Amino acid sequence: MRFFKSLQWRLVFIFIAMDICVIIPISLLLKFQVETSYYEAFKEDIERGSQAWNIKPGSSLHDIMYDLSLEGNKNVYLFNIYSKNKTYTIYDKSTNTMMSTDKRFEMNQDKFELEVLNSSNFVSALAGNPGNRRNMMRSDGEAFFDYALLKGDFIIYFRYYSDDWAGIIEEFNNIILNVAFIAVIASLIIGYILSKTITIPIADIMQKARAIAEGEFGRVLEVRSDDEIGDLTKTFNYMSSELKNTLIEISSEKSKIETILKNMTDGIIAFNIKGEIIHINPAAKVILGENELSMNFNEFSDKYGLNISLEDIIYLQISTAEEKSVFINDKYIRIYFATFTDDNKKAEGVIAVLQDVTEMQKLDNMRKEFVANVSHEMRTPLTSIKSYAETLLDGAYKDSETAVKFLTVINSEADRMTRLVKDLLQLSRLDNHQMQWNMQQFSFTELVRNSIVKLQIEAENKNQKIESYIMGDIPEIKGDRDRIEQVVLNILTNAIKYTPEGGKITVYVSRIFNDVTLKVADTGIGIPRKDLSRIFERFYRVDKARSREMGGTGLGLSIAKEIVEAHGGTITAESELGKGTEITVKLPI
Ligand code: ADP
Repeated sequence: MRFFKSLQWRLVFIFIAMDICVIIPISLLLKFQVETSYYEAFKEDIERGSQAWNIKPGSSLHDIMYDLSLEGNKNVYLFNIYSKNKTYTIYDKSTNTMMSTDKRFEMNQDKFELEVLNSSNFVSALAGNPGNRRNMMRSDGEAFFDYALLKGDFIIYFRYYSDDWAGIIEEFNNIILNVAFIAVIASLIIGYILSKTITIPIADIMQKARAIAEGEFGRVLEVRSDDEIGDLTKTFNYMSSELKNTLIEISSEKSKIETILKNMTDGIIAFNIKGEIIHINPAAKVILGENELSMNFNEFSDKYGLNISLEDIIYLQISTAEEKSVFINDKYIRIYFATFTDDNKKAEGVIAVLQDVTEMQKLDNMRKEFVANVSHEMRTPLTSIKSYAETLLDGAYKDSETAVKFLTVINSEADRMTRLVKDLLQLSRLDNHQMQWNMQQFSFTELVRNSIVKLQIEAENKNQKIESYIMGDIPEIKGDRDRIEQVVLNILTNAIKYTPEGGKITVYVSRIFNDVTLKVADTGIGIPRKDLSRIFERFYRVDKARSREMGGTGLGLSIAKEIVEAHGGTITAESELGKGTEITVKLPI
């Protein structure tokens, strides 16, 4: 059925309908023309005969009959009525009665008379007018023309039956039927072929449109003609290429956004209007510690105690981003919610941006702790300076021995503060990258040896033995000699400080791959495992009181770490409580 609905078949049907539209009028016209020519001849015969017929006034029916009969009418064809399809009947005009009739009507005379009385031509002749109007009439299924001729006191009523020309019309109809048949067949063939020139490009375009809908752009359509179909093909090709470009643009935009989402450190979760998750990026999964997240918005809000529902965000039209802070898996997470809308500004869903602010929070805490530490470290010496000075002012200065003792304490506390301030300044310079590095080539081995010499007395005071081993040929390194010395001295000082009397300190210098390595091992008090990772933090001390007693600020190792790292090296510590500590410094050659 679809086949017959196709454009191709419709075109064929139009052709055939056109054939029929032409053939039917032609056949009707032909029929009319044939009838007319027969009628005209019939009429002419009668009128010519009437002119040639000199009828004497007062002629009787007998005279008329005689004139019309074969003997009376020398010219046999007076009205040319001697044919089996022609009849004539004579009426008396004054009495309107039929005087003679044709054999044809003998059987059905009453009916015939009634028909004659109803003939407009007869009525016209009766009124003295010509009865020569062309009327095709019917009686008992037979068609005929009639003619009523007024002659003297009589009316001669002629009839001409269509049987005379019916054969010709039938012949014509046969011809027309044959022609129509040929025309329909030709229309079928020509219409089919012609319509193909229209439908093939359309089918091509249709196929291509279908391919495009499936996302396949493929080849460009061939423009076969310079007509509307050609224009359509061109327009279609243009549309397809534009569509392709737009799609490429959209997909590149999409992949850009996907890449951004994938590599963002912030977590992104998109929920649709029903609250279902439609997108979640890897960072969000890491933050939430989940591989797959299959929950809706309100479950998500409940699970992480966000105390916010999808309806709150969408229906209350929270235009500015709503912010929540929560702890998830020991991390401090800040979550921002924002709605996204369609073209009509109608909310389509919610986007949650998850920001891990743990580090920020940590830094903030560290900053606060640092300020607290600094104030605390400053307050201790200041308090003791203040109290000794007050005691001196209260009169203690009079006893010179006490005065000297107190002043010595004040001096050493002032030194301690100076050290602290010096260390803080150095750290601040390192933090702000304002350190002036005096880079030079120097021998690391020599630096270590000199440092040991500098601290020899200190060690001997504690009855400690320092052994050093230089392993292999150690190349020179490049760096700030004074700062590296500061590091080495700090490590050695710590080793002496935190090793009891009679302990042993071993120093190794070696080259491992592209690094020179310094290892300082002591047999001291060691560092508890839990503190080991924190000794490089600022102000971190395992035993605060003890360190302070020994004059430490708690900043030495943190400064050492900054210096070593600024040289591209590393500093690490290993220790066993009660057995000893080993600090390792690696510096690139
Ligand atoms: P301090 O000025 O207190 O020595 P440091 O930054 O140099 O500060 O060291 C930090 C902390 O590390 C010390 O307070 C101490 O507890 C610990 N520490 C450092 N070196 C050693 C060591 N060799 N043996 C034991 N503990 C050590």
